[in-house]
Amino acid sequence: MNVPQTSLLPDLLPGLKGQRVAISAGAGGIGLAISKLLYAHGCRVALFDVSDSALDTARHDMPDALVAKADVSSEAEVEAFFTSAGHNFGGLDALINNAGIAGPTGGVEDISPSDWRRCVEIGLTGQFLCTHYAVPAIKAAGGGAIVNMSSAAGRHGYAYRTPYSAAKFGVIGFTQSLAKELGPHNIRVNAILPGIVAGARMEGVIKDRAAQVGIEYAEMETRYLERVSMRRMVTPEDVAETVAFLLSNGGRNISGQSIGVDGNVETL
Ligand code: NAD
Repeated sequence: MNVPQTSLLPDLLPGLKGQRVAISAGAGGIGLAISKLLYAHGCRVALFDVSDSALDTARHDMPDALVAKADVSSEAEVEAFFTSAGHNFGGLDALINNAGIAGPTGGVEDISPSDWRRCVEIGLTGQFLCTHYAVPAIKAAGGGAIVNMSSAAGRHGYAYRTPYSAAKFGVIGFTQSLAKELGPHNIRVNAILPGIVAGARMEGVIKDRAAQVGIEYAEMETRYLERVSMRRMVTPEDVAETVAFLLSNGGRNISGQSIGVDGNVETL
């Protein structure tokens, strides 16, 4: 279904219409939900992703968006994307550092150093690369907002997923430091910490963990939900709405924060 180009909700989140927003991994999962919601609010969306099929969907759903193939762990591809976005949009008002992979599941003695590096490279260094190449355009626009995707794993830790958890703790440190550095440039920086998000990725995580512990998928899913006060998973759209709020005028004095969108998850 095509999303209308003009915002359907102009009064609920003032200040979004016309914002030029770049989104990493913006064609699938949570990133796609963010891209589509911002697009529906009248933002000018530039996104990149590595998946060809996801990129095709994004092009179909958002015909006026700038959609490109790039890997967040490739400095050359990230630089080329931001050069193109800055050129096409004449500047940038916001950056959503969404890309991140679950990484390996396993005890610390079983995780290979190359799997560790890949997880941290995509989930943490990738945020640095995008920010490095986006900030000059945001400064030139007179300020804006950056939203970094962390995780409840970046607050509580996550057994058998140490690379992921370490990357997500790193995202919070990156966010708090950037908020101090960029505040005087009128750039707000916040982290969102989704909890257990419904979708294929979480199904894979629960499946892996169930196999590791030797129980059925349904039983492991129940165990996961028992850790959530609200006893339900959040959706990609829940996360997207929080991003939209942070970019809107409503978020104008929110910076340096780590915002859980998790139904009050106790641990992962
Ligand atoms: P996902 O696994 O569904 O992937 C989303 C998109 O990322 C896909 O389209 C994929 O092609 C793209 N991608 C993967 N590697 C990439 C790379 N190297 N460069 C560019 N694009 C790449 O992810 P998701 O569940 O939507 O998660 C999005 C963000 O939210 C991640 O940072 C993730 O860690 C975080 N998060 C997710 C959950 C969850 O339960 N899904 C929970 C907490 C935090």
